[in-house]
Amino acid sequence: MSVAIDVDAGFLNGIRKIADEFAAVNADDVDRKARFPVEALDALRADGALSALIPTELGGGGISFEAVAAACFELGRRCGSSAMVYAMHQIQIACMTRHLADAPWFEAYLRDVARDQRLIASVTSEVGTGGDLGRSNAAVTPSRDGNATFEKQAPTVSYGLYADDLFTTLRRTPDAEPGDQVIVLTHKDQMTLEQTGTWDPLGMRGTSSPGFVVRAEFSTDQVLPTPFPIVAGESMVPVSHLLWSHLWLGIATDAFDRARAFVRASAKQRPDQVPPTAQRLSHLMSELSLLRAEVNSALRDFTEASATPDRERLSTMASILRFNNLKIAASEQAPRVCQGAMAIGGIVGYKNDTPFSVGRHLRDTMSAPLMIANERIHERNALLLLIAKDV
Ligand SMILES: Cc1cc2nc3c(=O)[nH]c(=O)nc-3n(C[C@H](O)[C@H](O)[C@H](O)COP(=O)(O)OP(=O)(O)OC[C@H]3O[C@@H](n4cnc5c(N)ncnc54)[C@H](O)[C@@H]3O)c2cc1C
Repeated sequence: MSVAIDVDAGFLNGIRKIADEFAAVNADDVDRKARFPVEALDALRADGALSALIPTELGGGGISFEAVAAACFELGRRCGSSAMVYAMHQIQIACMTRHLADAPWFEAYLRDVARDQRLIASVTSEVGTGGDLGRSNAAVTPSRDGNATFEKQAPTVSYGLYADDLFTTLRRTPDAEPGDQVIVLTHKDQMTLEQTGTWDPLGMRGTSSPGFVVRAEFSTDQVLPTPFPIVAGESMVPVSHLLWSHLWLGIATDAFDRARAFVRASAKQRPDQVPPTAQRLSHLMSELSLLRAEVNSALRDFTEASATPDRERLSTMASILRFNNLKIAASEQAPRVCQGAMAIGGIVGYKNDTPFSVGRHLRDTMSAPLMIANERIHERNALLLLIAKDV
């Protein structure tokens, strides 16, 4: 037990150093140029952090999920885009490690990830189905020699040009229903990516996420054996919501810290008075506490449910509602905190080049409610609330 805690602590020390020395230093340039945060990702690779979640038996770091979530928080405090790239990669790793079903191809692949620090991007959204994770148009299509192909119109693929591999949701066969999905891991040298748009968004600019038509030819061993609906319910959805929420909390925490630094600087100028912004800072602290409490409690719920022998508990209606609510609450609360921080700093918070700037924080967190649209999640919740007996 204590060995595991030491390993987690060592990992997090390394992450904090990378966050300070690489992510923070380049965050503004990454944001201004909408460029991939290459310095932070190179440092994470050099540290072996891309394979943190892979079990040691497969050559990985054997780091706990809680520590990886904390790493997303730490990176989020310094550069939202670096944190989002790291989180998205870890989501793919979590889906594979939790649903391997002893498949030899995937075991060998995870060893390769650990050895070569391969970076994995995600292709779930699709032109025509939008952010509906539970439906695909593109399908695994048998080809010659027992291989298969697919062609998927992907509207948003974060760091698609920088990833070594893609994890793509598809219909099982060309005849399958939209919800009969599998997930396929393909290597860069098995694919062509035809870029279909640009990436000049409001926030999360460093994720470098234009659209692509992805075409691939691959061996059928590269289809994860566990059906995608199970992977989604037990892992992809709760893990995504947890890791995203941790990094949004990180961004909001840094915005709060900047507002606090501003209030303290004001107090130093007039030591005889409590600045009027101090009281607003107290209000903002309550807002941040609400966000932190929700993120921490969801992490505890997930860890408990994952530890039980039957992880199927994560697919119950109560559990789906729980992690959907985390996403909705955190994605709305994080930009609220950033906006509050900006109101406290006034013009020096609004300007992009002061120690109290929170414009990037606000813009980055404004992507949160639409990253899988909250209205789509509310629609799903509404249906579950009508039929669920366990909530
Ligand atoms: C920074 C960033 C990075 C991303 N990276 C990736 C990636 O790497 N891979 C990937 O696959 N995807 C990625 N996405 C895409 C994302 O995950 C969603 O799929 C995408 O944002 C949804 O696109 P949309 O807004 O057009 O979708 P839609 O879900 O189609 O929503 C369109 C509009 O319809 C509304 N709407 C939808 N459903 C309902 C409903 N039931 N009731 C009422 N209104 C509704 C929404 O609120 C929204 O206004 C990324 C998104 C962001 C912001």
